[in-house]
Amino acid sequence: MLPFKLVYSEKYFLPIGEHIFRADKYRLIRELLVHQPVADESDFLVPQPASEADVMLVHSPHYVNKLMEGTLSAREELEMEIPYSPQVVDAFMLHTGGSILAAERALKDGVCINIGGGFHHAFPEHGEGFCMINDFAVAIRVMQKRGLIGHAMTVDCDVHQGNGTAFIFGNAAYKPNKLPSWSAAALGAPQGATMTEAPTTDVFTISMHQDNNYPFVKPPSSIDVNLPDGCGDLEYLAWLDNALSSGLRQFEPELICYVAGADPYREDQLGGLDLTIEGLKRRDELVFRAARAHDIPVMVTFAGGYALRIEDTVAIHANTVLAAAEVYQPAPGEAHTA
Ligand SMILES: [Zn+2]
Repeated sequence: MLPFKLVYSEKYFLPIGEHIFRADKYRLIRELLVHQPVADESDFLVPQPASEADVMLVHSPHYVNKLMEGTLSAREELEMEIPYSPQVVDAFMLHTGGSILAAERALKDGVCINIGGGFHHAFPEHGEGFCMINDFAVAIRVMQKRGLIGHAMTVDCDVHQGNGTAFIFGNAAYKPNKLPSWSAAALGAPQGATMTEAPTTDVFTISMHQDNNYPFVKPPSSIDVNLPDGCGDLEYLAWLDNALSSGLRQFEPELICYVAGADPYREDQLGGLDLTIEGLKRRDELVFRAARAHDIPVMVTFAGGYALRIEDTVAIHANTVLAAAEVYQPAPGEAHTA
């Protein structure tokens, strides 16, 4: 039994046909976790769909009505890059409910993992890049509305920049100056990576992503780490450590939302970084250790993963659960309550 809960529903499957986004990955991750066995049946919680009122804490009523009534324009559907259907909307509402539940449980248990979600390209007025509803932005706003938290931090390690999240929580009018690569020199990291900072409101956003990749317009996050093509494990981990330290020096969140994309993997079809499966697990450990050291609850969402072999994507996501299990394992003698 794990010292935290996993959130999952078989209805997370998105009926989008043959697609590079393998929507069966959620079921395969659950099967692998139970088979390994890292988790057992009692570790899983089943979410309820988010309400329209909750979704409207982030998305405009106009957009939500279009989703519910099936009145997106052809252009809007094209930009989403997945086919519209009421069933797909239902699945996104359920992933969003899963992230709300994961946030609640994280505040209670210290950590909780949604085996889904991470749809960071969804904006208040439109969806794009396979993302219809920004599930974890909604979860953060719901926790704030209920008075459970004031400040939150997103740590987005998907290979693609979290443009929707940066827009939702940021100051879109702000034009960041690229800081000189002082950190790169200090860390011995390869030249070419840059770290940019922007003013923060009540949610501090960190995005670690490949600079030369979708989205081509990147609204400023509180910290953006713009990584060069081919960045490997060591350089990546050094930059992540740097960004987390810098973020947690400036800001004291009451909840961290970790977006654990599997697509920085070297064999990802939509990514151009060079991380190994082992390096990605160390990335997860680094985030969990930093959160635990600062005693900040963490909710996790899974975001992208498009490896040539689906088994690799599934293994990377399952490893995130394993990494949390290792970091959050109660010390011998420490009381453990279910
Ligand atoms: Zn991605």
